[in-house]
Amino acid sequence: MIRASERAMGIEYAIRDVVLPARELEKKGIKVIRLNIGDPGKYDFQPPKHMRDAYCKAIQDGHNYYGPSEGLPELREAIVSREKRKNGVDITPEDVRVTAAVTEALQFIFGALLNPGDNILVPSPSYPPYVGLVKFYGGIANEYLTVEENGWQPDIDDMRKKINERTKAIAVINPNNPTGALYEKKTVREILDLAGEYDLPVISDEIYDLMTYEGQHVSPGSLTKDVPVIVMNGMSKVYFATGWRLGYFYYIDPENKLAEVKEAIDKMARIRLCPNTPAQFAAVAGLTGPMDYLDEYMGKLKERRDYIYKRLTEIPGISTTKPQGAFYIFPRIEERSKWKNDKEFVLDALNEAHVLFVHGSGFGYAGEWHFRIVFLPPVEILEEAMNNFEAFMRKRLGA
Ligand code: PLP
Repeated sequence: MIRASERAMGIEYAIRDVVLPARELEKKGIKVIRLNIGDPGKYDFQPPKHMRDAYCKAIQDGHNYYGPSEGLPELREAIVSREKRKNGVDITPEDVRVTAAVTEALQFIFGALLNPGDNILVPSPSYPPYVGLVKFYGGIANEYLTVEENGWQPDIDDMRKKINERTKAIAVINPNNPTGALYEKKTVREILDLAGEYDLPVISDEIYDLMTYEGQHVSPGSLTKDVPVIVMNGMSKVYFATGWRLGYFYYIDPENKLAEVKEAIDKMARIRLCPNTPAQFAAVAGLTGPMDYLDEYMGKLKERRDYIYKRLTEIPGISTTKPQGAFYIFPRIEERSKWKNDKEFVLDALNEAHVLFVHGSGFGYAGEWHFRIVFLPPVEILEEAMNNFEAFMRKRLGA
């Protein structure tokens, strides 16, 4: 047998791992309600028409060539305008890099920062690639606690305790996946202060920045003075174009502390040639075009968030924090005597209630005894899922 690398074999991705047992049920003709993947395009959300038109037009007009590794100049300009509007940041196109979505931005940033044994502070619970990709690049995902009782805000004292001489950066995901937390301005300021104290850059994942229900997103980029911040964003969530694989990141680095890291990132960008060219034209249309579609979509999402939250609070054996952003809810399993762990709970719910959630431990240690539900589907589907799940819980708990 030809052996694969340990690096690749070590990769885990809980969100897709649970699909295999679901497929087994589906093969037997059983309908499974899948609430595991955060893909708006699978439901009644599409990128706005002006973006779809721009994508088709770019292809028809012959923009099917390789572009610059750092991204098309017109898109980098559009990103600067968008980010100035949203975050009031003082950046130029030179600070912006276009990527195959935030996932590639993470690969570049972790790849450029980490030597074997270095670590990056990542939230727990956290979107799994933060752990998986850090490990893939030889680093250690150094998980800091976020506190459920405090709306899943980061625990700054725990962050401080986790920093050591091999720490290379602090990663922040806000609004958060999987918890739906939206961080207070005070928290963002405290994270920046801590980063400044230890001379660390902040990596800020803002992919859900305009998807908030209560309150508004505050970027560390909007508050920093001298702490370097790398802000990441893209077309997948707010612009509903997950499958286009397009995103970007930019540096706010007034003292040029990241000079070498930027050079390393540009080397990585060059060996992968360039991001998708026609999709970049569509992104320009998205970033410069009307945003009224978002009000309509956020209206639908809020209705779904309110519905699922209400239903979950009526089900025995679990408790739930109300998400303030993104489209995930992360209930806690209170009654634990019936299952060995949260994964067994999720598989039991799949086999019995035919609803697919993701086990919380797949998002890091602070996710244990929780599970994540995606509330993108219309209320009728959520209702059927919650009816099945409630019946399952009442049967299991005899309640
Ligand atoms: N970052 C977070 C916090 C996410 O939840 C996701 C997708 O669910 C991504 C990044 C991936 O984004 P992209 O599609 O831009 O690679």
